[in-house]
Amino acid sequence: MRSKKAASYAILSTGVRRDKINRQTKHVAASIGFLKDGGPIPPTSTKISAKEILVDTTRALNGTTSAVASVVSLYCKYMQNNKILRLFFICISLAILVSGCATVPTGENIPTYSIGGVTYYPLVSLCSLRGVDMQYDTLLRTAYLSKESNRLNLRAGDSLVLVNDNVMHLKSPIDIYQGTIVVPRQFKEQIFDVLFKAPSVTYRRPGTGKIKLNKVVIDAGHGGNDPGAIGKSGLREKNVNLDIARKLNTLLRSEGVQTVLTRSSDKFIPLSTRVNIANKSGADLFISIHSNANRSRSVSGFEVYYVAPSVSDTKRAAFTARNAPLDLKNAVFSGSSPELRSIVWDMIYTNSRAESIELSHSLCRIMDSCIDANILGVKGARFQVLKGVRMPGVLIEIGFLSNPNEERLLKTSAYRQKLAEGILEGIREYSQDKALVEAAAR
Ligand SMILES: [Zn+2]
Repeated sequence: MRSKKAASYAILSTGVRRDKINRQTKHVAASIGFLKDGGPIPPTSTKISAKEILVDTTRALNGTTSAVASVVSLYCKYMQNNKILRLFFICISLAILVSGCATVPTGENIPTYSIGGVTYYPLVSLCSLRGVDMQYDTLLRTAYLSKESNRLNLRAGDSLVLVNDNVMHLKSPIDIYQGTIVVPRQFKEQIFDVLFKAPSVTYRRPGTGKIKLNKVVIDAGHGGNDPGAIGKSGLREKNVNLDIARKLNTLLRSEGVQTVLTRSSDKFIPLSTRVNIANKSGADLFISIHSNANRSRSVSGFEVYYVAPSVSDTKRAAFTARNAPLDLKNAVFSGSSPELRSIVWDMIYTNSRAESIELSHSLCRIMDSCIDANILGVKGARFQVLKGVRMPGVLIEIGFLSNPNEERLLKTSAYRQKLAEGILEGIREYSQDKALVEAAAR
């Protein structure tokens, strides 16, 4: 009881200082915007924020561990004189660490995870379903949700949630899993669902509204001497992928969206070249198209992959920073420490991942109404082609060539057209949601 009270006090009492940090992190957020556009970072803002970030992020490891590290470091920083509080948060953190994570299979489009026996949902998916605006501060690992007059603040590693300025206590803490913020069932049912009721109006009709993206990279998997999966009748993945990529290309262009194809003919293109083409294009989105295969011929369906965090995302960020890519070798970067560079990269990856997950869900949701196939859902993976791409990106497995029924369908131009149209509508929904969130943030 005592520690609960003390913890509520912690959130409220550090308000002033957190405001100060918030202001400084906004500078960093602005810097990321600059980086994405390839422009320079204003040197003063980088200077101000670098010191604050270093304290917090250099301790971060990955996933749950990074959430724990950041919570421990944040609380230790602000409550150096309060031993009881420190002990309380360290205990919570240890409990999370010991409990471990496991994925629970689900028939729904929203994945659920079991962490320490508690069911968790990805917050970004819940927000996208209910049209809730979400802003995520990667440094404080705090999410700010809003819709109409309702406001919700929650932080990874914390079991306290600010609901319209009232503190509420959860039995299980907010967590980070596969690089994205996840919330326990209690939060979803008792707070989120109550505050942000399901809309009475049905989903937006597909095909309406502009696609709010400038450029999309379309990557047809395999090619040339690499056929990819081969169906029983001899249908080759490389040809199916290319045809859908071309159809999607035509559709996007007719909507006024610029496109870049990593290959437009039956040619072998190494993965590293595909990644380079994407990164040099300055595109907003990367779509890789593949067809699946499974030993069991009965397996069928459509699924979308985003880049899951590696064993250590910090390591990956540090690696990228050391091998500083071309367009980021600007004045600020050349003078900055490897730590700062790796932190900025870490933040770029985190932001891209949240958007990639968002896009993955849009694709599955739309495809569910477009095609008569199993929707296997959204999955995190470590595909080489997605790992190196510095923009939101997904890999779509459009169906199984090993499944006789899907192979028969995939042979037809009509079904491939349907798939291309479904992907287009998924991109449209994602771009409109993204534009809404960005407009609200301004
Ligand atoms: Zn493939």
